[in-house]
Amino acid sequence: MNQIPKIEKKILKFWQRENIFAKSIEQKKNKPFFSFYDGPPFASGPPHYGHILASTIKDTVLRYWTMKGYQVPWRVGWDCHGLPVENLIEKELGFRSKKDIEKFGIKKFNQACRESVFRCTADWSKTLRRVGRWADYSDAYATLDNNYIESVWWVFKQLWNKGLVYQDYRVTPYCPRCGTPLSNFELNQPGAYQDVEDESVYVKFSLKGEKNTYFLVWTTTPWTLPANTGIAVGSKIKYVKVKSNNEFYILAKKRLEVLDKQGKYLVKEEFLGKDLVGIEYEPFYKMDLDKQGYRVVPADFVSVEDGTGLVHIAPAFGEDDMNLGKKENLPIKVTVDEEGKVVKGLGIPGQGKFVKKADKDIKNDLKKRNLLFKEEKIIHSYPHCWRCETLLLYYPINSWYVAVTRFKKELIDNNKKIRWVPAHLREGRFGKWLENVRDWSVSRNRFWGAPIPVWQCEKCGKQKCVGSIKELKQKPKDLHRPMIDKVVLKCSCNGRMKRTEEVFDCWFESGLMPYAQWHYPFENKKLVEETFPADFIAEGIDQTRGWFYTLHVLATALTLNGNGLGKNKPAFKNVVVNGLILGEDGKKLSKRLKNYTPPEIIFDKYGADALRYFLLSSTPIGEDYIVSEKRIGETFRRTILTLWNSFAFFNTYADSDIKSPKSVSPKNILDRWIVSRLNSLNQEVIFWMDKYELTKAARLFDSFVDDLSNWYIRRSRRRFQKPANKQEKQEAEKTLSFVLFNLAKLTAPFLPFMVEEIYQKLNGEQSVHLADYPKPNKKLIDKRLEERMSQVRDVSALALAERAKAGIKVRQPLSRLTIDNKQFAENNELAELIQEEINVKEIVFGKKVELDTKITPDLKIEGMIRDLVRFIQGMRKDAGLKPGQKIYLRYSAILSLRKIIQKYEEEIKAETSLEKMEAGSKRKEVFLVEKEVKLDGQEIWLGIRK
Ligand SMILES: [Zn+2]
Ligand SMILES: [Zn+2]
Repeated sequence: MNQIPKIEKKILKFWQRENIFAKSIEQKKNKPFFSFYDGPPFASGPPHYGHILASTIKDTVLRYWTMKGYQVPWRVGWDCHGLPVENLIEKELGFRSKKDIEKFGIKKFNQACRESVFRCTADWSKTLRRVGRWADYSDAYATLDNNYIESVWWVFKQLWNKGLVYQDYRVTPYCPRCGTPLSNFELNQPGAYQDVEDESVYVKFSLKGEKNTYFLVWTTTPWTLPANTGIAVGSKIKYVKVKSNNEFYILAKKRLEVLDKQGKYLVKEEFLGKDLVGIEYEPFYKMDLDKQGYRVVPADFVSVEDGTGLVHIAPAFGEDDMNLGKKENLPIKVTVDEEGKVVKGLGIPGQGKFVKKADKDIKNDLKKRNLLFKEEKIIHSYPHCWRCETLLLYYPINSWYVAVTRFKKELIDNNKKIRWVPAHLREGRFGKWLENVRDWSVSRNRFWGAPIPVWQCEKCGKQKCVGSIKELKQKPKDLHRPMIDKVVLKCSCNGRMKRTEEVFDCWFESGLMPYAQWHYPFENKKLVEETFPADFIAEGIDQTRGWFYTLHVLATALTLNGNGLGKNKPAFKNVVVNGLILGEDGKKLSKRLKNYTPPEIIFDKYGADALRYFLLSSTPIGEDYIVSEKRIGETFRRTILTLWNSFAFFNTYADSDIKSPKSVSPKNILDRWIVSRLNSLNQEVIFWMDKYELTKAARLFDSFVDDLSNWYIRRSRRRFQKPANKQEKQEAEKTLSFVLFNLAKLTAPFLPFMVEEIYQKLNGEQSVHLADYPKPNKKLIDKRLEERMSQVRDVSALALAERAKAGIKVRQPLSRLTIDNKQFAENNELAELIQEEINVKEIVFGKKVELDTKITPDLKIEGMIRDLVRFIQGMRKDAGLKPGQKIYLRYSAILSLRKIIQKYEEEIKAETSLEKMEAGSKRKEVFLVEKEVKLDGQEIWLGIRK
């Protein structure tokens, strides 16, 4: 097991014990703001990878700006209201409809909701802490607080005063189970649209006074037929009257294919749609109507793409239908109740049943009466409730609207002021959404939410919008229902004013967290105005039509004419949008499918830094992530462990009192190169981080760590282990210490745990997270050297591949390498690096990379000695000996081998720190480590002791 997760836990305790987070806030108290808004999650279950991802992005950006010297409000918050919570409690209590809640009592129900909200927040704080997300969890805001609600009221009143709020009886998407309308963007939540198989029907409306003549009409929702009060035609569309089986049908000429499979037909007459307008027909189920219905009306939305070109109009159950009904003065007949059941006592088949079930009864009834022309199965995408998954209906209801369409231009203009990462979202997904904005239904006919602050007079009907608790002239303990419903105001006409029953859409509440989290404008006025708009926010792609949208709408509405918050402002300046997290099989994470490893296991095996780095570097921002333990393990080994081992190497070989120097002026070519690389890295990381391109910044560390470990340290080993003189070692130590120390600071926002350990060991100051972010020293950047070193690495890789192809290990010296680069010929230092790496006697500058793979007897012996040295070093390590500690070696081998070893005795002794080595037999003596190995096929026994 690796030790990194253990180190991380130690660091977590250290941060807590020493209040490092509080200290970092204190340190930046008087610095300029870097403003951040946290999108409040519903803590209705434990946090999953999606939350860990968003938290990692937020934490990395915030740590970065803190180290850059800014004051960051790190506040987190909880979304407490709305359908997600209500549905949870309904399920727990076994409720099926709103009536169950009313029977149970709104007070008790809301109490249960309130108690459930903080059930999981402790789990959340624990997981987010483990990820390393810094925040003051004790100071989180909650949307259920009276102060928060009061700010919601204030915002609503601002909109009210600007004339942006209205009430309307409209057909809206409606969940019959939740008993409430939903907004158009709630229909865009993931999973809202699902394919359903339906029976579509062609039905026959009989023309009044014309025997055997019918309008052919198509619908996918037979349950809406009893509410039909009109048929729409396109004025300029050509229609025909055809004869088939002794009956006459009227339909669009272009839709004759509808009849094709029904045998022969004869076209009798042809006319335009406008000629049909006004013709009356017999309804299927006659209703009492307050206006004249059952007639043909013109409409511009009629098409001949599907159906019959004659459109069934049920004003109660379609948005277009309602608008057309209002325009053409058609009666509105609501034949379904608020639970989605067919109203009883109207003579409709399937009465009392849920509409989808009543479909069949209605169809059968029409069939019996010879009014059904034909049926067809169709599969279409249909919206469902994003919380309870019930099929949504389009249903007429009185609702409160925010007139978003009235400030569409400002919404589009303000979007231009935002940097989206990835950039294409601005004009793409988000921009397109803004082009088609609709007025927003902000009221919900529910219980657990901020109440709509409108009171209406029972006598004269006057409405009053309340924008503060003060205006109530009393102070209710709790602003929720049912307490608030008992507050009665007095009208100017002396009548009693009672509150309208609805509560707010929870998206309305979360969209105004920039103000409400600080109880604006009642408190913290200066703070809110100084930190608005946010410099940065980050959430998942699903929020494009959720929180990002509501933040944008409300900020734009509030700043329309200018106020303390500014004029025409977006809510945020930079937004980082992450994709979805998928399991190893590319599907959504599913506990049932077990297609992912739980985060706790990742934390215990690889640590939080590994998961963070995987999330930050594996996938371009905006694309979907595939989370798999294998891939996280690879990231861990490639980057985290390699960095840790580089530090461990330093820790092993450097003198114990080495501290990182403040500056360096390197001379050795490797030192000059790695210091140049460090400063280039520093420059590039800042370049990308300032643009919020986290993936591009994070990936830079990967190649740097590779250069550091697999080239700088590898080629510098001799200087640490067998330096030519003291100064040579000191120079190397100084450089590596400087590089590791600054690398720790550079990576601190990304890998906050491990580099804290490295930083402390190298410097002794309290915490890397209290340090300033490094600034690059351009004077130390030598781009030419970096390029050439990169060529050196390429050449070496080619030559090593040649060795591998010939099956000769690197320890076996070879005589000659030919390479093609003249630049190396001019630079002896670079050529030497290649020579050492490839283990050849000489380098020749010729035309291409060519390795002389012939092994002469001398080279062979040299290779054997290398092997022997390596065996002895391995044994020293097994015995736990310190570098340089002198030991005794005995060996036993055949005479020819002994002769060779004796010849190179001095060299072997020097390289393996032997006090004495002698040939002899394995006597009964205790050795620290004994080993039997083969040298060039010959057996040799080795034993070491102190
Ligand atoms: Zn629902
Ligand atoms: Zn009144």
